[in-house]
Amino acid sequence: MKAYISVDLEGVSGIIHSSQTQPSEPGYNRALELMHDETNAAIRGLLRAGVSEIVVNDSHWDMRNLHLEKLHSDKAVHLRSGWQKPFSMVSGLSEAARRPDFTIFLGYHARAGHATGVLSHTYRAQIFFEVTLDGKPVGETGLNAALAGHFGVPVALVSGDDAVCEEARDLLGDVMTCQVKECVSRYSAVFPDYQSTLVKLEEAACQAAKSKQHWQLFQAAKPARIGITMFDPAMADAAELIPDAKRIDSRKILIEAADYSQAFRLMLAIGALGASRKDPHFS
Ligand SMILES: [Zn+2]
Repeated sequence: MKAYISVDLEGVSGIIHSSQTQPSEPGYNRALELMHDETNAAIRGLLRAGVSEIVVNDSHWDMRNLHLEKLHSDKAVHLRSGWQKPFSMVSGLSEAARRPDFTIFLGYHARAGHATGVLSHTYRAQIFFEVTLDGKPVGETGLNAALAGHFGVPVALVSGDDAVCEEARDLLGDVMTCQVKECVSRYSAVFPDYQSTLVKLEEAACQAAKSKQHWQLFQAAKPARIGITMFDPAMADAAELIPDAKRIDSRKILIEAADYSQAFRLMLAIGALGASRKDPHFS
């Protein structure tokens, strides 16, 4: 059995502020330790369940956060590191020969605009105001689950705060979730005992691998429709340079594609174009 873990940072226990997630900021090195601890807990759980290959996809920021030598050492473990890589947080699922049986979303966070989700955002925290899939607001959980589903890979487990766990169940149905913190607001959370959290996560990963009945294959409607409301009209102007991006109003762009993976790539491209119009002088 092969597993794939997409590891983000904002949803990891101990993280409540964006400065902890930026390599240039103090606090980032401690955050990395927590990210490794959760990743290793999940790896241990999967190994206990008999998983023979585990691809860990570093899915945060420049995707160079996880250190190979700090991961639980086992022949089964492979680290997919660095940027740029196709399909970003779910890179590698398109390769048929390496396709895993299921995926885990670890350290995930709630969608942009969630009232209390810790560090809520969707891919581009300062570019995407809201992202919808088939008209419904979604976060990285939904967008990435749909990409995995497009390639026939189900989601077995989502971990993060209570907001992202609820978001996952709301969209994916009976998927297993593991709550590692309780959100108070976008920048505040209650953390349970740390070692207990790691034990809980290891157990959740082990159970998820064994509980095929809970794996959720999530597929977008055809054609796939991703709506993106940009933070400002200049960003939408840049997004509109893509011929397939339809301008809906001053800030909203709609992408429609028969193939969800094409819509997903256009969404990533719009993020990059939007970022090029971020105004450094306006605060
Ligand atoms: Zn993220």
